[in-house]
Amino acid sequence: MKKILFFSTLCVLLTGYLQAQKKVSNSSYEKIVNDLISKMTLAEKVHILHGDHLYSFPGIERLGIPAFFPSDGPCSVRPELSDDGKYVNTNNTKDCATALPTLSAVAATWDPAICYLFGSTLSSEVRARGKDMTLGPGVNIMRTPLCGRTFEYMGEDPFLTSKLCVPLIKGIQSNDVGACVKHFAMNNQELNRFEVNVKVDERTMREIYLPSFEAAVKQGDTWSLMGAYNKVNGDWCCENPYLLKTILREEWGFDGLVVSDWGAIHDYKKAALAGCDLESDRGSNYIKLEKAVINKELPESVVDEKVRRLLTYFCKIKKIGPDAAKREKGSINTTEHQLAAKKIAAESIVLLKNSDNVLPLDKISLKKILVIGRNADLKLCVGIATSGWCDLNLAGGSGEAKPLYEITALQGLKNVLGTNTEIQFINAKEYSSEKALSSASKNFYNSEFIQKVKSADAVLLFTGNSHVEEQEGSDRLTLNLPSGQDEMVNALAGINPKTVVINQSGAPVAMPWIAKTSTVVQYWFSGQEGGNALADVLLGVVNPSGKLPCTFPQRLEDVSCHATKSYVDTEENYSEGVLVGYRWFDTKNIQPLFPFGHGLSYTKFKYGKPIMKKEMKSNDILVVKIPVTNTGKREGAEVVQLYIHEANPVLLRPEQELKGFSKVSLKPGETKIVEIQLSARDFSYWSVKEKGWKASDGKFEIRLGSSSRDIRAKEEVQFVSVKKK
Ligand code: BGC
Repeated sequence: MKKILFFSTLCVLLTGYLQAQKKVSNSSYEKIVNDLISKMTLAEKVHILHGDHLYSFPGIERLGIPAFFPSDGPCSVRPELSDDGKYVNTNNTKDCATALPTLSAVAATWDPAICYLFGSTLSSEVRARGKDMTLGPGVNIMRTPLCGRTFEYMGEDPFLTSKLCVPLIKGIQSNDVGACVKHFAMNNQELNRFEVNVKVDERTMREIYLPSFEAAVKQGDTWSLMGAYNKVNGDWCCENPYLLKTILREEWGFDGLVVSDWGAIHDYKKAALAGCDLESDRGSNYIKLEKAVINKELPESVVDEKVRRLLTYFCKIKKIGPDAAKREKGSINTTEHQLAAKKIAAESIVLLKNSDNVLPLDKISLKKILVIGRNADLKLCVGIATSGWCDLNLAGGSGEAKPLYEITALQGLKNVLGTNTEIQFINAKEYSSEKALSSASKNFYNSEFIQKVKSADAVLLFTGNSHVEEQEGSDRLTLNLPSGQDEMVNALAGINPKTVVINQSGAPVAMPWIAKTSTVVQYWFSGQEGGNALADVLLGVVNPSGKLPCTFPQRLEDVSCHATKSYVDTEENYSEGVLVGYRWFDTKNIQPLFPFGHGLSYTKFKYGKPIMKKEMKSNDILVVKIPVTNTGKREGAEVVQLYIHEANPVLLRPEQELKGFSKVSLKPGETKIVEIQLSARDFSYWSVKEKGWKASDGKFEIRLGSSSRDIRAKEEVQFVSVKKK
């Protein structure tokens, strides 16, 4: 089979061109940056490269270099912390900020415009709080659904994450705030996160774990990036010359700032030489750079380079330099931002199952509803405690938020239903403790209670996790729901035909009761307006259009790293290779609970016949068009997904891979032609031998559908390599 290596020369040319372009844009800052560096002593240079507080770096007053303030978190502006990690404004609203949905929810929108809105809303608040950088987005790939930070990431697919993180970064950087894309790289679990050594082969790294970072750098033009805690192939990420130098700087042409994760530097010389620019937190390592330079163990140019990157970053965010007077001031806790939070949350909700068309509920006929389950009235933004300010000792980590208010699902339902509907809420928590589960639940689910369930106009059963189950610093131990919730659904699901299960989590959960219920909704960690958004979806004010950014497995053992027993806490051998997420399920023919890309609507969409050429030349673009019609009675949005399957691959390739998608809104009866473009890279795998992206000549199948398991149209295309001149 004839193959081509189309990438190498083109890549070199392109990277060179992009670097040149960047130099042009950075050149306006060169003078001011060089000027400042020339006036700085070695001690001053070193001084600004390591943090002096948990979230600040010192400036140099005599030279007018200001202090620098990065800030968590990825879905809000984190409340202020003291150096010992305690929240400082525990009984006032000074540091309140809008809580947006977390990133797994944002990814479920499959909508680049929503991602931009998320980014720009967040950064406007970052500015209003006087910060200079937001520590996010997190673009690590979900390797195991147990990962405690799955809610902070954008799912299991490198293509989806890449396409969505780019507009999100651009949105952030539209307000003179830098994104700090994290955690570079292969930080896919919280289990033993400070120690774990990830052993990963080159192809897996390139195809699965690096593309989102590559897109963030090359297309998103992120101004900064965070080195992770873990080791990759024996070297700590912040000291890893292969990751930081060879790939990031040399191959991808990154000229921005590399920030260490908090406490992630071990060997300061190695980190400095590998290209880690800043030591965050109250760094005790980079302080030694001064001596090392004096002792001629390191050239001063290494320090200068870091200072240059930091000062250039300051120019980009207009903290110093010619544009400083024009820096965005931002705004915070505005109605506009709250509406943005609601819009993002509404678009993220995924209708998993609606086989009896129980949803949407009809507001007029709802006289009496039962709302059951802890998560219906659980506040997840831990800055707000049910009993006043402030319960920030709850777990959550850097994704914690402190909004002015948080609308729970229960409150959202009350807001939308008003006084015409009687809502009875039962927080089943105390009846389903792990201890004495059966006897307690026997009493709880007694005949009187069952009668109540029967006679309600609708029963909303809430299941889900909280930030105790899903949190930074630890992984979940199980896919199962906590606190006897499975038992609750088992006991109640079959009683009233108008029963809806609403699961709230940032990550997949098991649903052993799925056959018992006709109606299931996936509701994420949805920020302060989540409850209003959910009520709109349940009552049909909003037609759901979210799609799963990750597979929901039936059992943990069905997930590749668990099936291959390669999820451990020390030497993590990524032996499942490129078969991560649906790539594994589809290749091994395992039935998931809900597949990647799945999500229903209150209307129906019909796919027509694809229009495309039958041949794709390696130097060309393949344009795929497909008519999509809304055949139902409601306006709705569909995410058309394009997967590529190679007919006769020369090496193991996943059964299919997402390589395009487009979200389209359609009125009832309306048809639109959806267009998706494919380049040679979309057909390629990473060739280890030839160190580049490579596509084999031969037959590929283009699959178009509503999810990875709901393919509505297929076409063949012949990939033909064209020799470069
Ligand atoms: C987390 C980062 C976070 C940083 C600062 C670290 O422990 O891994 O994601 O940005 O703390 O809070």
